[in-house]
Amino acid sequence: MTTIFDKIISREIPADIVYEDDLVLAFKDIAPKAPVHYLIIPKQPIATLNDANTEHQALLGHMMLTAAQLAKQSGVAEGGYRVQMNCNPDGGQVVYHIHLHMMGGKAFSA
Ligand code: 5GP
Repeated sequence: MTTIFDKIISREIPADIVYEDDLVLAFKDIAPKAPVHYLIIPKQPIATLNDANTEHQALLGHMMLTAAQLAKQSGVAEGGYRVQMNCNPDGGQVVYHIHLHMMGGKAFSA
């Protein structure tokens, strides 16, 4: 299934891209929930975390490390930040192409 994120990867629709490499793309969330709110997505389409398997282990780790790197670059690492992946309707997932939210620049409640 094609999603809006495939169109961002292929540059069919614009996004404010903050990082790219062979495996992942990161861009600003269009409706930020924090002063810094980036989405880190794999270039390979995986619909939900339920669809990931051991073949994706390194990719998922790379997404986490990219989130940490972007937190440092955007100046929120010391203060702290939240990394979140939503899965399926009860998890609040809206776009069915896995993505990490990296949100910082404000204090979240536990
Ligand atoms: P989910 O709820 O699936 O975990 O998160 C999807 C996120 O994608 C939401 O935070 C939403 O604001 C963001 N989003 C949806 N469409 C677009 C878009 O076209 N561009 C960008 N930059 N973000 C989007």
